[in-house]
Amino acid sequence: MLEIDAELWEKAEELDEQLSSVYRKIDKLAAKNHERVLQAFLKAQISDRHLQGTTGYGYSDIGRQGIEEVFTHVFNAEAALVRGQIVSGTHAIALVLFGILRPGDELLSITGEPYDTLQEMIGIRTGALGSLRDFGITYRQVDLTAAGQLDWPAIKQAVTAKTRLVLIQRSRGYAWRSALTVEDIGRICAELKRINSNIVTFVDNCYGELVENMEPTEVGADLAAGSLIKNLGGGLAPTGGYVAGKEEYVAMAANRLTSPGIGAAVGATLDLNRWLLQGIYMAPLAVREALKGAVFTSALFADLGYEVSPASKEDRGDLIQGIKLGSPELMVAFCRGLQQSSPVDSQVIPEPWGMPGYDDYVVMAGGTFTQGSTIELSADGPIRKPYAIYLQGGLSTDYTKLSVLSAAKACAAITKK
Ligand SMILES: *Cc1c(COP(=O)(O)O)cnc(C)c1O
Repeated sequence: MLEIDAELWEKAEELDEQLSSVYRKIDKLAAKNHERVLQAFLKAQISDRHLQGTTGYGYSDIGRQGIEEVFTHVFNAEAALVRGQIVSGTHAIALVLFGILRPGDELLSITGEPYDTLQEMIGIRTGALGSLRDFGITYRQVDLTAAGQLDWPAIKQAVTAKTRLVLIQRSRGYAWRSALTVEDIGRICAELKRINSNIVTFVDNCYGELVENMEPTEVGADLAAGSLIKNLGGGLAPTGGYVAGKEEYVAMAANRLTSPGIGAAVGATLDLNRWLLQGIYMAPLAVREALKGAVFTSALFADLGYEVSPASKEDRGDLIQGIKLGSPELMVAFCRGLQQSSPVDSQVIPEPWGMPGYDDYVVMAGGTFTQGSTIELSADGPIRKPYAIYLQGGLSTDYTKLSVLSAAKACAAITKK
């Protein structure tokens, strides 16, 4: 049962008072993004017929075309590929990397180690069967500085004639660093093109969408990709991913998804179109709620004496809230507390496990209607130093509050022992 002490509730109310100006700023951001998304619907002339899906080959699926047009406008891009057949964010990113890179090309990451699930795909250490490395595509990485900043001197040295694509991770992922702002990304893209104009600049946009009033594709990124069970699915998309950007590159990703020759012209949508359309329509609201929940969580855990990133009043570039708990026991306790308050699977007890695609054991909490849907509210972290938990999502700030108060209570039970 959910039992939050009166003391914790009082604390929560106090924090809410102190955070009112931060909340107001988030409201303003969301209002602008609602306008942006609505404009995209109007431009694409979405109507009732777009809500129906197709079967079989999925030729002439106007719903699918309408969705891709909406995303194109939201990203102010030339084209977008938005499909239920893209199984996750990792898959969307793989479509871009395998779609564009050719044997002999080099992939360069300038934000340090890419997100855990991308490492086997690239072939950084071992490389799964069929990794980029298997195809003769080399990889280079420039680590962030000790302060978590881009290492410009090292980046300038790492970019060579072989460099075909530069991977830029917008969000912090499982790293204790700040998210990049869209402005940062603009500066990065301009600088990279100055060094070598043939470079494709690609942003892993997971958890960054609609957190600002601009997207990377508006400031010089050639491509951005992400998952629909994160920000842009609005908690309604039951599956899917997207790629948006330059037409030529989106077509290359589509050819990898289906086959050269048929590209983006096929792909049945079954009953998905309505969910994806309503999902992107609701996304600014989902992001607003998630941001406020993250701000609250940051303030609460800072108040309880933990190191947090970002701080509650700091500008945000993604939905992720990092909390340095400092021990595996506290990570597990946090996740159990959060899980206990989930609408689905509240009876489940989280345990660390070796998830596919991750090197370290990972502990996670998330009782979601859509499996693994982190926009609904989840917390996870690899069991490695600094033993930090990363919380993201929360379709209602009220629910996030209840959940993190429950997590705080579970942590307190450990520290009091
Ligand atoms: C979630 C995430 C991914 C991978 O997305 P999945 O949908 O989990 O495959 C990649 N990069 C970042 C930064 C992410 O947050």
